[in-house]
Amino acid sequence: MYRLRQEAEQKMRLHARDCLPSECCGILGGIDRLLMDYYPLTNRAITPTKSFFAAPEELFEAIRRMRRRKQEHLGIYHSHPDSEAYPSATDVKMAFYPQLIYFIFSAKTLELRAFHIVEGNITPVSYFVVD
Ligand SMILES: [Zn+2]
Repeated sequence: MYRLRQEAEQKMRLHARDCLPSECCGILGGIDRLLMDYYPLTNRAITPTKSFFAAPEELFEAIRRMRRRKQEHLGIYHSHPDSEAYPSATDVKMAFYPQLIYFIFSAKTLELRAFHIVEGNITPVSYFVVD
């Protein structure tokens, strides 16, 4: 079971709200099964209301900051402005990292859910929020 720090969870929810009507995106760093920090990134997708593409230079900088904090890159996050917190066909097609946890927040239902996406197969991942 994974644990997600409450501060990171709140930042993810706020980032989704701030980016409406577009999708937001970011990555999560932590140690073992504890997701400690959220690193927000700019969504550079051509149609940001329907998909996400993290700004590459921000992604590299976030990973550098993570390493300085001795964290591993454990998760990737994006929001769905008006659909369920479940991977879309595009999300599955673009899921290149089987080891990462994919967090999806629905601004419609306010649910934050987590998944592994491996070779097109979506598996829900359980987590709980900790202080
Ligand atoms: Zn999506």
